[in-house]
Amino acid sequence: MLVSSNLRRFVERAGSRVADFAFPPECVLCRCDLPPSPIAERVCGSCQEEWPAAIEYPCQRCGAESGPYASTADGCPHCQNLPASCKKIIAYGMYENKLRELCTQCKLPHFQPTAQFLARCLWNQHESVLRTLGCEVVVPVPMHWSSRFRRKTHPNETVARFLAARLQIPCSTTAVRQIRRIERQHLLSPSRRRKNVQGAFACRTSRTLQGRKVLLVDDILTTGATAHACAQALKPLQCEIAGVAVLARAVGR
Ligand SMILES: [Zn+2]
Ligand SMILES: [Zn+2]
Repeated sequence: MLVSSNLRRFVERAGSRVADFAFPPECVLCRCDLPPSPIAERVCGSCQEEWPAAIEYPCQRCGAESGPYASTADGCPHCQNLPASCKKIIAYGMYENKLRELCTQCKLPHFQPTAQFLARCLWNQHESVLRTLGCEVVVPVPMHWSSRFRRKTHPNETVARFLAARLQIPCSTTAVRQIRRIERQHLLSPSRRRKNVQGAFACRTSRTLQGRKVLLVDDILTTGATAHACAQALKPLQCEIAGVAVLARAVGR
């Protein structure tokens, strides 16, 4: 099965028609066989039934689920304690149920189609907001080279490239680097999260980024500590973080 999937991906890189001829198309989420269809529509019926729910009434500032009658122009209780660099968060869904499962799947080797699928969901849900931010460049929150080597995938970069293509602006994937390994954030308290990522990112000179309005892209945002550490790293380039786009917004600790 794995050999077949790897071989399919190799052939897909050579050309989708060849791949369709050699292998039946498969659902990008559960890998079941499907009739021929464009790759963007390859989600089977049962996965569509469990479709990860979009946030119906997001807070205008932090993107978290609020309520149909809540006024969130000045924020909501979940905005409290978010760093200043997270003044505008655009999230597809809350980090729970199916979306939580898919965010985990995105980090596994060879699950780039899942990240692309979620990028499309994010875009379809928030196209107008993303356009009105007036961003000039998209920057994915980087991954340490050793994690990238181990995982052979980088969901943030996949999503960032997708959004940049839709917005018709550049995607800068090399100017910001993660310069040391960090512990997994979700196991840490808010104060330890901030310490964990402090100084973990660095930027190099970049004409693409210098003085630009940036759309930062991450997979999950909880306390905003990682996004803030990236924003700090971009300070020498005098960038403005106009928005942080994430697949999932987590609230809680
Ligand atoms: Zn499926
Ligand atoms: Zn809020």
